[in-house]
Amino acid sequence: MALMVDISRGSPLGPSSASELFQLLRDGQPRTRAELSTLTGLARSTIGLRVDELMSLGLISPVGDAASTGGRPSSQFALNPGSRLVLAADLGASHATLAVTDLAGIRLAEHRGPIDIGEGPEPVLTWMVRAGRELLSSIDREQRDLIAIGIGLPGPVQFSSGRPINPPIMPGWDRFDVPGWVQQHLEVPVLVDNDVNIMALGEQSTAWPHAEHLIFVKVATGIGAGIISGGLLQRGAEGMAGDIGHVQISRAAGIPCHCGNSGCLEAIASGPAIAASLRGTGLEVESSRDVLDLINRGNIEAIQAVRQAGRDIGEVLTACVSLVNPSVISFGGSMARAGEHLIAGVREVVYTRSMPLATKHLSIVQSSAGADAAIVGASMLAIHHALSPENVVALTTNS
Ligand SMILES: [Zn+2]
Repeated sequence: MALMVDISRGSPLGPSSASELFQLLRDGQPRTRAELSTLTGLARSTIGLRVDELMSLGLISPVGDAASTGGRPSSQFALNPGSRLVLAADLGASHATLAVTDLAGIRLAEHRGPIDIGEGPEPVLTWMVRAGRELLSSIDREQRDLIAIGIGLPGPVQFSSGRPINPPIMPGWDRFDVPGWVQQHLEVPVLVDNDVNIMALGEQSTAWPHAEHLIFVKVATGIGAGIISGGLLQRGAEGMAGDIGHVQISRAAGIPCHCGNSGCLEAIASGPAIAASLRGTGLEVESSRDVLDLINRGNIEAIQAVRQAGRDIGEVLTACVSLVNPSVISFGGSMARAGEHLIAGVREVVYTRSMPLATKHLSIVQSSAGADAAIVGASMLAIHHALSPENVVALTTNS
């Protein structure tokens, strides 16, 4: 039985007719021109042209009954996901994940390694380019098979230019032309976004494909949110949408924050802030990891501190619920590994303080994509761009 695909639901990255054709074909279901025409609402002639174009590029291939019907040309087509590749990079403060995926987002090769984002853009991106090339050769593929690169960075990014803007933990990266630099080495489109935005994309596609209103909250060294509203990722005017870590809350009054203000959510509820508060009670806690170790050992002070951080985050999220009315709030980042303790604190506040209708069907949960959310989102960013109508046209004219 043919799988029904709801093509009225766009990608959170926006509409694109070629991408929708690929969305249809990406499920591996072979379809005829007539079926594609019915499903997309496009004229048969338009579908025919598009199919020929995509076939000549190798992006789709004929499948099915050619052999069994005595040489009659197959009339069914499916995406040929391995025809092109994208490189996805999740560059964190101290570690990075790189993956080469096919056009269906399937990871073909992956590398994880330590980096120091504070070394500045050139050393980090040099490493990324070299490791990316090694991944390609590890699966016997050429650099020319690569059609786009998606990069997530741990700070605010102006998406249109791919430049980080005043990133607090990334000295030397401010307004650095990341796409321009990378393209000197790998000549393909380079998409750069804030890590929390790509985590929201990865989480939505992995666990909540039908959720059109989703907030992804990362709680780690910092606190930030990625917002999908009305089915679209919301970056805001300057790429700062979802930057909830520096909203002031009363319990943080007077506590200095690295942003220069005091009283920020991040100054009281981030991993380092929780560690600092536990040190104040005499516990030997240096890092977020130590906090998690204490929780795993059932330490009651650590559990209470994380639950309180959850309540503090919930205070800010209550306002977000009023603004965005999400159906899902999903938690990722290192502190989300504290599991139900953090989320219980969030639920306590959000469910009691929000209007009942706003929380009627609201799920507040731990990320399902987990550590993979960012790399999945980075590959989606690259694939979506690569398969946009303009880029498919560009592939045709360059071939
Ligand atoms: Zn702050």
